[in-house]
Amino acid sequence: MSLKLYNTMTRKKEDFIPREQGKVAIYACGPTTYNFFHLGNARMFVVFDTVRRYLQYKGYKVTYVQNFTDIDDKIINRAKEEGMDALALAEKYIQEYFKDADALNIQRADIHPKATEHISLMIEMIETLVAKGLAYAVDGDVYFEVRKFAEYGKLSGRDPDDLRSGARVEVDTRKKDPLDFALWKGAKEGEPSWESPWGKGRPGWHIECSAMALKYLGPGFDIHGGGGDLTFPHHENEIAQAEGYLSAQPFAHYWMHNGFITVNQEKMSKSLGNFFTVRDILAKFPASVVRFYLIGTQYRSPLDFDDQKLAMSKKALDRLINTCALSKEALARSVEDASCAKAESIIAQAQQAEKAFIEAMDDDFNTALALAALFDLSKDTNNFLADYVPCTEGQRALEFVLGTFDKLSGILGIDLENMENVQDDHLVDGLMQLIISIRAQARQNKDWPTADKIRDGIKELGIVLEDTPQGVRWKRQ
Ligand SMILES: [Zn+2]
Repeated sequence: MSLKLYNTMTRKKEDFIPREQGKVAIYACGPTTYNFFHLGNARMFVVFDTVRRYLQYKGYKVTYVQNFTDIDDKIINRAKEEGMDALALAEKYIQEYFKDADALNIQRADIHPKATEHISLMIEMIETLVAKGLAYAVDGDVYFEVRKFAEYGKLSGRDPDDLRSGARVEVDTRKKDPLDFALWKGAKEGEPSWESPWGKGRPGWHIECSAMALKYLGPGFDIHGGGGDLTFPHHENEIAQAEGYLSAQPFAHYWMHNGFITVNQEKMSKSLGNFFTVRDILAKFPASVVRFYLIGTQYRSPLDFDDQKLAMSKKALDRLINTCALSKEALARSVEDASCAKAESIIAQAQQAEKAFIEAMDDDFNTALALAALFDLSKDTNNFLADYVPCTEGQRALEFVLGTFDKLSGILGIDLENMENVQDDHLVDGLMQLIISIRAQARQNKDWPTADKIRDGIKELGIVLEDTPQGVRWKRQ
Protein backbone atom coordinates (compact mmCIF):
# COMPACT_ATOMS: atom_id res chain seq x y z
CA MET A 1 0.00 0.00 0.00
CA SER A 2 1.24 3.44 -0.76
CA LEU A 3 1.16 6.46 1.46
CA LYS A 4 -2.04 8.47 1.44
CA LEU A 5 -2.45 11.81 3.09
CA TYR A 6 -5.32 14.20 3.56
CA ASN A 7 -4.86 17.33 1.48
CA THR A 8 -6.73 20.33 2.88
CA MET A 9 -6.68 21.84 -0.62
CA THR A 10 -8.71 19.02 -2.20
CA ARG A 11 -10.47 17.94 1.02
CA LYS A 12 -9.65 14.30 0.45
CA LYS A 13 -7.02 11.68 1.05
CA GLU A 14 -4.66 11.50 -1.89
CA ASP A 15 -1.81 9.23 -2.91
CA PHE A 16 1.42 10.92 -2.02
CA ILE A 17 3.44 11.58 -5.17
CA PRO A 18 6.57 13.65 -4.53
CA ARG A 19 7.70 16.45 -6.83
CA GLU A 20 11.00 14.69 -7.29
CA GLN A 21 11.37 10.95 -7.02
CA GLY A 22 12.78 9.85 -3.68
CA LYS A 23 12.77 13.35 -2.21
CA VAL A 24 10.31 15.27 -0.07
CA ALA A 25 10.38 18.99 0.69
CA ILE A 26 8.40 20.12 3.74
CA TYR A 27 7.73 23.57 5.10
CA ALA A 28 6.16 23.80 8.55
CA CYS A 29 5.16 27.12 10.07
CA GLY A 30 7.35 27.76 13.07
CA PRO A 31 6.69 29.67 16.27
CA THR A 32 6.38 33.39 16.78
CA THR A 33 9.06 33.74 19.39
CA TYR A 34 7.57 35.97 22.07
CA ASN A 35 6.99 33.31 24.75
CA PHE A 36 7.57 29.65 25.56
CA PHE A 37 5.57 27.61 23.10
CA HIS A 38 2.23 26.22 24.21
CA LEU A 39 0.69 22.79 24.01
CA GLY A 40 -1.08 23.54 20.72
CA ASN A 41 2.23 24.51 19.12
CA ALA A 42 3.82 21.39 20.58
CA ARG A 43 1.23 19.20 18.91
CA MET A 44 2.00 20.75 15.55
CA PHE A 45 5.77 20.42 15.93
CA VAL A 46 5.51 16.80 17.11
CA VAL A 47 3.03 15.88 14.34
CA PHE A 48 5.25 17.17 11.56
CA ASP A 49 8.38 15.76 13.18
CA THR A 50 6.65 12.37 13.11
CA VAL A 51 5.60 12.87 9.47
CA ARG A 52 9.21 13.64 8.66
CA ARG A 53 10.51 10.58 10.51
CA TYR A 54 8.03 8.29 8.78
CA LEU A 55 8.92 9.63 5.32
CA GLN A 56 12.58 8.99 6.15
CA TYR A 57 11.70 5.46 7.22
CA LYS A 58 9.99 5.03 3.82
CA GLY A 59 13.32 5.88 2.23
CA TYR A 60 12.73 9.49 1.17
CA LYS A 61 15.40 12.11 1.49
CA VAL A 62 13.50 14.78 3.39
CA THR A 63 14.32 18.49 3.43
CA TYR A 64 12.52 20.00 6.38
CA VAL A 65 12.24 23.76 6.86
CA GLN A 66 10.67 25.35 9.91
CA ASN A 67 10.92 29.10 10.31
CA PHE A 68 11.08 31.41 13.26
CA THR A 69 8.78 34.43 13.08
CA ASP A 70 11.11 36.71 15.00
CA ILE A 71 9.45 40.01 14.12
CA ASP A 72 5.74 40.50 14.75
CA ASP A 73 3.26 42.65 16.69
CA LYS A 74 3.20 40.13 19.53
CA ILE A 75 6.97 40.29 19.92
CA ILE A 76 6.99 44.08 19.83
CA ASN A 77 4.21 44.31 22.44
CA ARG A 78 5.79 41.77 24.77
CA ALA A 79 9.17 43.49 24.48
CA LYS A 80 7.54 46.81 25.42
CA GLU A 81 5.94 45.19 28.47
CA GLU A 82 9.27 43.77 29.58
CA GLY A 83 11.29 46.84 28.67
CA MET A 84 13.40 44.71 26.34
CA ASP A 85 14.65 45.13 22.80
CA ALA A 86 12.24 43.28 20.48
CA LEU A 87 14.94 41.42 18.54
CA ALA A 88 16.70 40.37 21.75
CA LEU A 89 13.41 39.07 23.14
CA ALA A 90 12.82 37.06 19.97
CA GLU A 91 16.32 35.59 20.12
CA LYS A 92 15.83 34.61 23.75
CA TYR A 93 12.68 32.65 22.91
CA ILE A 94 14.33 30.98 19.92
CA GLN A 95 16.81 29.50 22.38
CA GLU A 96 13.96 28.53 24.72
CA TYR A 97 12.21 26.87 21.76
CA PHE A 98 15.18 24.57 21.25
CA LYS A 99 15.22 23.54 24.92
CA ASP A 100 11.59 22.39 24.87
CA ALA A 101 11.78 20.96 21.35
CA ASP A 102 14.89 18.93 22.22
CA ALA A 103 13.15 17.63 25.34
CA LEU A 104 10.21 16.48 23.21
CA ASN A 105 12.66 14.75 20.86
CA ILE A 106 11.69 17.01 17.97
CA GLN A 107 14.54 16.81 15.51
CA ARG A 108 16.12 20.04 14.41
CA ALA A 109 14.91 21.17 10.99
CA ASP A 110 17.42 21.06 8.15
CA ILE A 111 16.94 24.81 7.97
CA HIS A 112 15.48 27.09 10.65
CA PRO A 113 15.28 30.39 8.77
CA LYS A 114 14.58 33.56 10.71
CA ALA A 115 12.30 36.15 9.20
CA THR A 116 14.63 39.03 10.10
CA GLU A 117 17.43 37.44 8.07
CA HIS A 118 15.32 37.42 4.90
CA ILE A 119 13.94 40.95 4.77
CA SER A 120 15.51 41.86 1.42
CA LEU A 121 13.98 38.76 -0.14
CA MET A 122 10.56 39.76 1.18
CA ILE A 123 11.00 43.29 -0.16
CA GLU A 124 11.87 41.88 -3.57
CA MET A 125 8.72 39.74 -3.57
CA ILE A 126 6.57 42.69 -2.54
CA GLU A 127 8.12 44.86 -5.27
CA THR A 128 7.26 42.20 -7.83
CA LEU A 129 3.69 41.98 -6.55
CA VAL A 130 3.35 45.77 -6.81
CA ALA A 131 4.84 45.75 -10.31
CA LYS A 132 2.34 43.07 -11.36
CA GLY A 133 -0.55 45.15 -10.06
CA LEU A 134 -1.37 42.65 -7.31
CA ALA A 135 -0.37 44.94 -4.47
CA TYR A 136 -0.46 48.66 -3.76
CA ALA A 137 1.31 51.04 -1.40
CA VAL A 138 -0.46 53.53 0.87
CA ASP A 139 1.32 55.84 3.33
CA GLY A 140 4.29 53.54 3.85
CA ASP A 141 2.22 50.34 4.04
CA VAL A 142 1.79 47.85 1.21
CA TYR A 143 -1.33 45.71 0.82
CA PHE A 144 -2.07 42.65 -1.24
CA GLU A 145 -5.15 43.27 -3.38
CA VAL A 146 -7.28 40.19 -2.79
CA ARG A 147 -9.69 40.95 -5.68
CA LYS A 148 -6.84 40.52 -8.13
CA PHE A 149 -6.25 36.92 -7.11
CA ALA A 150 -9.18 35.02 -8.57
CA GLU A 151 -8.58 31.85 -6.58
CA TYR A 152 -8.59 33.49 -3.17
CA GLY A 153 -10.39 31.17 -0.74
CA LYS A 154 -9.51 27.92 -2.51
CA LEU A 155 -7.66 26.41 0.46
CA SER A 156 -10.07 27.26 3.24
CA GLY A 157 -13.13 26.86 1.03
CA ARG A 158 -14.31 30.36 1.87
CA ASP A 159 -16.07 32.62 -0.54
CA PRO A 160 -14.51 36.10 -0.51
CA ASP A 161 -17.94 37.71 -0.89
CA ASP A 162 -19.22 35.89 2.20
CA LEU A 163 -16.11 36.96 4.05
CA ARG A 164 -16.69 40.56 3.05
CA SER A 165 -20.33 40.65 4.15
CA GLY A 166 -19.98 38.33 7.13
CA ALA A 167 -16.84 39.70 8.69
CA ARG A 168 -16.92 42.51 11.17
CA VAL A 169 -14.19 44.25 9.29
CA GLU A 170 -12.64 47.34 10.63
CA VAL A 171 -13.18 50.29 8.32
CA ASP A 172 -9.81 51.17 6.91
CA THR A 173 -10.45 53.66 4.15
CA ARG A 174 -6.91 53.29 2.88
CA LYS A 175 -7.58 49.70 1.81
CA LYS A 176 -9.31 49.05 -1.51
CA ASP A 177 -11.07 46.03 -0.05
CA PRO A 178 -11.61 44.91 3.54
CA LEU A 179 -9.92 41.58 2.76
CA ASP A 180 -6.68 43.18 1.56
CA PHE A 181 -3.88 42.32 3.94
CA ALA A 182 -0.56 43.93 4.79
CA LEU A 183 2.60 42.81 3.03
CA TRP A 184 4.64 45.63 4.51
CA LYS A 185 3.92 47.78 7.55
CA GLY A 186 5.33 51.25 7.84
CA ALA A 187 7.44 51.74 10.98
CA LYS A 188 5.92 53.22 14.10
CA GLU A 189 7.96 55.08 16.68
CA GLY A 190 10.35 52.84 18.60
CA GLU A 191 9.75 49.68 16.53
CA PRO A 192 12.46 47.67 14.79
CA SER A 193 12.45 48.63 11.12
CA TRP A 194 14.23 48.10 7.85
CA GLU A 195 14.71 50.37 4.83
CA SER A 196 12.43 49.70 1.88
CA PRO A 197 11.18 51.43 -1.28
CA TRP A 198 8.13 52.47 0.81
CA GLY A 199 10.13 53.88 3.67
CA LYS A 200 11.16 52.27 6.92
CA GLY A 201 9.04 49.37 8.08
CA ARG A 202 8.79 45.63 8.50
CA PRO A 203 7.17 42.72 6.67
CA GLY A 204 3.72 41.31 7.44
CA TRP A 205 3.61 37.82 8.92
CA HIS A 206 2.20 36.06 5.84
CA ILE A 207 4.86 37.19 3.37
CA GLU A 208 7.58 35.89 5.69
CA CYS A 209 6.55 32.26 5.26
CA SER A 210 5.96 32.56 1.49
CA ALA A 211 9.40 34.07 0.99
CA MET A 212 11.31 31.59 3.14
CA ALA A 213 9.46 28.55 1.78
CA LEU A 214 10.15 29.56 -1.82
CA LYS A 215 13.77 30.39 -1.12
CA TYR A 216 14.63 27.03 0.42
CA LEU A 217 12.20 24.67 -1.27
CA GLY A 218 11.25 26.29 -4.58
CA PRO A 219 7.81 26.39 -6.20
CA GLY A 220 5.55 23.35 -6.07
CA PHE A 221 7.25 21.86 -3.02
CA ASP A 222 5.61 18.82 -1.49
CA ILE A 223 4.08 19.47 1.91
CA HIS A 224 3.12 22.69 3.66
CA GLY A 225 2.12 22.03 7.24
CA GLY A 226 0.63 23.92 10.11
CA GLY A 227 -2.05 23.96 12.76
CA GLY A 228 -5.64 24.03 11.54
CA ASP A 229 -6.05 27.59 12.82
CA LEU A 230 -3.46 28.71 10.25
CA THR A 231 -5.56 27.61 7.26
CA PHE A 232 -7.29 30.97 7.19
CA PRO A 233 -6.10 33.59 6.79
CA HIS A 234 -2.39 32.74 7.09
CA HIS A 235 -2.09 29.95 4.55
CA GLU A 236 -4.75 31.38 2.24
CA ASN A 237 -2.72 34.58 2.13
CA GLU A 238 0.54 32.70 1.66
CA ILE A 239 -0.94 31.06 -1.44
CA ALA A 240 -2.25 34.33 -2.87
CA GLN A 241 1.13 36.04 -2.51
CA ALA A 242 3.27 33.14 -3.65
CA GLU A 243 1.16 32.11 -6.63
CA GLY A 244 0.66 35.75 -7.56
CA TYR A 245 4.40 36.26 -7.42
CA LEU A 246 5.20 33.10 -9.38
CA SER A 247 2.40 33.58 -11.94
CA ALA A 248 2.07 29.83 -11.61
CA GLN A 249 0.70 27.25 -9.28
CA PRO A 250 0.86 25.45 -7.05
CA PHE A 251 2.93 27.08 -4.35
CA ALA A 252 2.80 23.81 -2.39
CA HIS A 253 1.28 20.50 -3.42
CA TYR A 254 -0.13 19.02 -0.22
CA TRP A 255 -1.50 21.12 2.63
CA MET A 256 -1.59 19.30 5.94
CA HIS A 257 -3.25 20.71 9.07
CA ASN A 258 -3.43 19.20 12.50
CA GLY A 259 -6.45 19.44 14.80
CA PHE A 260 -6.69 21.73 17.80
CA ILE A 261 -6.23 21.01 21.49
CA THR A 262 -8.94 21.56 24.06
CA VAL A 263 -8.46 21.63 27.83
CA ASN A 264 -11.22 19.91 29.78
CA GLN A 265 -13.25 20.09 26.55
CA GLU A 266 -12.83 23.87 26.34
CA LYS A 267 -10.82 25.85 23.87
CA MET A 268 -7.38 26.61 25.25
CA SER A 269 -7.04 30.35 25.69
CA LYS A 270 -5.31 32.83 27.89
CA SER A 271 -8.57 34.55 28.81
CA LEU A 272 -10.07 31.29 30.12
CA GLY A 273 -7.00 30.68 32.25
CA ASN A 274 -6.50 27.18 30.81
CA PHE A 275 -3.48 28.02 28.72
CA PHE A 276 -0.47 25.74 29.12
CA THR A 277 3.04 26.20 27.90
CA VAL A 278 5.07 23.07 27.35
CA ARG A 279 7.46 24.37 29.98
CA ASP A 280 4.62 24.24 32.56
CA ILE A 281 3.74 20.69 31.62
CA LEU A 282 7.33 19.46 31.58
CA ALA A 283 7.63 20.53 35.20
CA LYS A 284 5.07 17.84 36.03
CA PHE A 285 5.52 15.10 33.45
CA PRO A 286 8.48 13.54 31.63
CA ALA A 287 8.84 14.86 28.08
CA SER A 288 8.55 11.36 26.63
CA VAL A 289 5.10 11.05 28.21
CA VAL A 290 4.02 14.39 26.74
CA ARG A 291 5.15 13.29 23.29
CA PHE A 292 3.48 9.92 23.71
CA TYR A 293 0.24 11.66 24.67
CA LEU A 294 0.44 13.99 21.64
CA ILE A 295 0.83 11.14 19.15
CA GLY A 296 -1.78 8.97 20.85
CA THR A 297 -4.44 10.55 18.64
CA GLN A 298 -4.49 10.79 14.84
CA TYR A 299 -3.23 14.26 13.99
CA ARG A 300 -6.42 15.61 12.40
CA SER A 301 -8.67 14.73 15.34
CA PRO A 302 -9.19 17.18 18.17
CA LEU A 303 -7.21 16.31 21.27
CA ASP A 304 -8.35 17.00 24.81
CA PHE A 305 -5.87 17.67 27.57
CA ASP A 306 -5.94 17.32 31.33
CA ASP A 307 -3.54 15.92 33.90
CA GLN A 308 -5.43 12.66 34.10
CA LYS A 309 -4.96 12.02 30.38
CA LEU A 310 -1.24 12.53 30.78
CA ALA A 311 -1.22 10.18 33.76
CA MET A 312 -2.96 7.58 31.59
CA SER A 313 -0.42 8.11 28.83
CA LYS A 314 2.33 7.54 31.36
CA LYS A 315 0.82 4.22 32.41
CA ALA A 316 0.43 3.10 28.81
CA LEU A 317 3.98 4.09 27.93
CA ASP A 318 5.26 2.27 31.02
CA ARG A 319 3.70 -0.92 29.67
CA LEU A 320 5.78 -0.73 26.50
CA ILE A 321 8.89 0.20 28.44
CA ASN A 322 8.38 -2.72 30.81
CA THR A 323 8.10 -5.17 27.94
CA CYS A 324 11.37 -3.91 26.49
CA ALA A 325 13.06 -3.97 29.90
CA LEU A 326 11.88 -7.55 30.55
CA SER A 327 13.11 -8.60 27.11
CA LYS A 328 16.50 -7.07 27.77
CA GLU A 329 16.64 -8.78 31.14
CA ALA A 330 15.90 -12.13 29.51
CA LEU A 331 18.58 -11.49 26.90
CA ALA A 332 21.12 -10.94 29.66
CA ARG A 333 20.43 -14.35 31.19
CA SER A 334 22.72 -17.22 30.28
CA VAL A 335 21.55 -19.58 27.61
CA GLU A 336 20.51 -23.07 28.56
CA ASP A 337 20.53 -26.11 26.41
CA ALA A 338 16.86 -25.86 25.58
CA SER A 339 14.77 -25.35 22.51
CA CYS A 340 12.13 -22.72 22.09
CA ALA A 341 8.99 -23.78 20.28
CA LYS A 342 7.63 -20.24 20.23
CA ALA A 343 10.65 -18.47 18.70
CA GLU A 344 9.27 -18.64 15.18
CA SER A 345 5.87 -17.35 16.16
CA ILE A 346 7.11 -14.33 18.13
CA ILE A 347 9.21 -13.32 15.11
CA ALA A 348 6.11 -13.64 12.92
CA GLN A 349 4.17 -11.54 15.42
CA ALA A 350 6.83 -8.82 15.32
CA GLN A 351 6.70 -8.83 11.52
CA GLN A 352 2.93 -8.63 11.68
CA ALA A 353 3.18 -5.66 14.08
CA GLU A 354 5.45 -3.82 11.67
CA LYS A 355 3.05 -4.50 8.81
CA ALA A 356 0.09 -3.19 10.83
CA PHE A 357 2.17 -0.18 11.88
CA ILE A 358 3.00 0.68 8.26
CA GLU A 359 -0.61 0.25 7.16
CA ALA A 360 -1.71 2.66 9.89
CA MET A 361 0.93 5.25 9.07
CA ASP A 362 0.30 4.93 5.32
CA ASP A 363 -3.30 5.84 6.00
CA ASP A 364 -2.75 9.55 6.66
CA PHE A 365 -0.29 9.02 9.50
CA ASN A 366 -2.66 7.27 11.88
CA THR A 367 -0.36 7.20 14.90
CA ALA A 368 -3.16 5.98 17.18
CA LEU A 369 -3.49 2.74 15.20
CA ALA A 370 0.27 2.50 14.79
CA LEU A 371 0.60 2.54 18.58
CA ALA A 372 -2.06 -0.17 18.82
CA ALA A 373 0.25 -2.40 16.76
CA LEU A 374 3.02 -1.79 19.31
CA PHE A 375 0.69 -2.70 22.19
CA ASP A 376 -0.27 -5.93 20.41
CA LEU A 377 3.38 -6.80 20.10
CA SER A 378 3.91 -5.91 23.74
CA LYS A 379 1.19 -8.36 24.78
CA ASP A 380 2.59 -11.09 22.54
CA THR A 381 6.08 -10.52 23.91
CA ASN A 382 4.90 -10.66 27.52
CA ASN A 383 3.20 -13.98 26.75
CA PHE A 384 6.36 -15.24 25.15
CA LEU A 385 8.42 -14.25 28.17
CA ALA A 386 6.04 -15.78 30.71
CA ASP A 387 7.49 -19.29 30.49
CA TYR A 388 10.64 -18.49 28.58
CA VAL A 389 13.79 -20.52 29.14
CA PRO A 390 16.77 -18.73 27.53
CA CYS A 391 18.09 -20.63 24.52
CA THR A 392 19.95 -19.71 21.37
CA GLU A 393 16.99 -19.42 19.01
CA GLY A 394 14.85 -17.74 21.67
CA GLN A 395 17.51 -15.08 22.23
CA ARG A 396 17.70 -14.45 18.51
CA ALA A 397 13.93 -14.04 18.42
CA LEU A 398 14.02 -11.60 21.34
CA GLU A 399 16.71 -9.54 19.64
CA PHE A 400 14.48 -9.35 16.59
CA VAL A 401 11.51 -8.24 18.72
CA LEU A 402 13.57 -5.57 20.48
CA GLY A 403 14.87 -4.37 17.12
CA THR A 404 11.29 -4.03 15.91
CA PHE A 405 10.28 -2.05 19.00
CA ASP A 406 13.29 0.18 18.55
CA LYS A 407 12.62 0.85 14.87
CA LEU A 408 8.89 1.50 15.16
CA SER A 409 8.99 3.56 18.34
CA GLY A 410 11.83 5.57 16.79
CA ILE A 411 9.50 6.58 13.95
CA LEU A 412 7.17 8.02 16.56
CA GLY A 413 10.08 9.75 18.30
CA ILE A 414 9.78 7.57 21.39
CA ASP A 415 12.86 5.80 22.69
CA LEU A 416 11.62 2.77 24.63
CA GLU A 417 15.02 1.47 25.52
CA ASN A 418 16.55 4.49 27.12
CA MET A 419 13.64 5.50 29.20
CA GLU A 420 14.53 4.16 32.58
CA ASN A 421 14.09 7.78 33.62
CA VAL A 422 10.34 7.43 33.22
CA GLN A 423 10.27 4.49 35.57
CA ASP A 424 12.79 6.21 37.82
CA ASP A 425 10.53 9.22 38.07
CA HIS A 426 7.78 6.90 39.16
CA LEU A 427 10.04 5.44 41.83
CA VAL A 428 11.37 8.83 42.91
CA ASP A 429 7.85 10.12 43.25
CA GLY A 430 6.89 7.18 45.45
CA LEU A 431 9.97 7.68 47.64
CA MET A 432 9.32 11.40 47.90
CA GLN A 433 5.74 10.81 49.01
CA LEU A 434 7.10 8.49 51.69
CA ILE A 435 9.66 11.05 52.87
CA ILE A 436 7.04 13.81 52.91
CA SER A 437 4.78 11.68 55.09
CA ILE A 438 7.63 10.80 57.50
CA ARG A 439 8.45 14.51 57.81
CA ALA A 440 4.80 15.34 58.49
CA GLN A 441 4.73 12.64 61.16
CA ALA A 442 7.91 14.01 62.77
CA ARG A 443 6.43 17.51 62.86
CA GLN A 444 3.27 16.20 64.40
CA ASN A 445 5.38 14.55 67.12
CA LYS A 446 7.30 17.81 67.55
CA ASP A 447 10.43 15.88 66.60
CA TRP A 448 12.06 18.97 65.10
CA PRO A 449 15.57 17.52 64.60
CA THR A 450 14.20 14.77 62.35
CA ALA A 451 11.92 17.13 60.44
CA ASP A 452 14.80 19.58 59.88
CA LYS A 453 17.18 16.83 58.88
CA ILE A 454 14.76 15.71 56.17
CA ARG A 455 14.16 19.26 54.94
CA ASP A 456 17.89 20.09 54.77
CA GLY A 457 18.78 16.74 53.24
CA ILE A 458 16.38 16.99 50.32
CA LYS A 459 17.25 20.63 49.81
CA GLU A 460 20.83 19.57 49.29
CA LEU A 461 19.61 17.16 46.60
CA GLY A 462 18.01 20.08 44.77
CA ILE A 463 14.44 19.27 45.72
CA VAL A 464 12.05 21.80 47.17
CA LEU A 465 8.84 21.19 49.07
CA GLU A 466 5.80 23.36 48.52
CA ASP A 467 2.74 23.63 50.71
CA THR A 468 -0.36 23.55 48.51
CA PRO A 469 -4.07 23.21 49.33
CA GLN A 470 -3.74 19.59 48.18
CA GLY A 471 -0.91 18.97 50.64
CA VAL A 472 2.86 19.08 50.35
CA ARG A 473 4.24 18.76 46.80
CA TRP A 474 7.80 18.31 45.73
CA LYS A 475 9.67 19.56 42.69
CA ARG A 476 13.16 19.69 41.35
CA GLN A 477 14.86 23.06 41.66
ZN1 LIG B 1 3.59 30.36 8.20
